[in-house]
Amino acid sequence: MNYFDFHHHNSRCKNGIYNLNFPDLPADSLFSAGIHPLTVSESTDEKWEWLLKVSQHLNCAAIGECGLDARVSDDVLQKEIFGRQTELANKLRKPIIIHCVRRFSELPHFKRKVNVPMVVHGFNKKQSVANELRKHDFYLSFGKSLLQNVNLQLLLKEFPLEKMFLETDAEEGSIDELYRTVSSLKGISEEMLILQIEKNLKAILP
Ligand SMILES: [Zn+2]
Repeated sequence: MNYFDFHHHNSRCKNGIYNLNFPDLPADSLFSAGIHPLTVSESTDEKWEWLLKVSQHLNCAAIGECGLDARVSDDVLQKEIFGRQTELANKLRKPIIIHCVRRFSELPHFKRKVNVPMVVHGFNKKQSVANELRKHDFYLSFGKSLLQNVNLQLLLKEFPLEKMFLETDAEEGSIDELYRTVSSLKGISEEMLILQIEKNLKAILP
């Protein structure tokens, strides 16, 4: 079956969005490209040139992963780099895949400035954070922590199907198990879930 993997780092996987690494050439299937917050200090001119170029490719589905991470010491710089990438996405009319660590309350500020969908990837936080992001119309992409985290499972049960994606990120193994878990939590068939995720994808892609 066609299990779409919204965010992954496996160049062999063709049914999903591959996170392209600098200085790689565009992939032959859907990919995203961006400057990760943990590498902002290395955001050289070469990297920006690369991003400006690959982001225009037809297979480039999204800008990212980019975002805000509380572990980054140069906060001014990381905000600037994130802001520039959201502007780029806005200009290209492409969605943004967001990496966020303990900085969720600042995301709406960036969202208000653009007109493209934003997807917070690898979401595994509590209900109140999800509610806040929902209020500002973010999509959430859930990963493998969903398989063990009972609170996250409860959250997912109530979370709107038309606002979610599923992903393996950098984890080993296939995504099938995640689809099985979510379809049983939501009480729908895997086929229905696959169709819904396809719909969601169509809704955000340029
Ligand atoms: Zn990732």
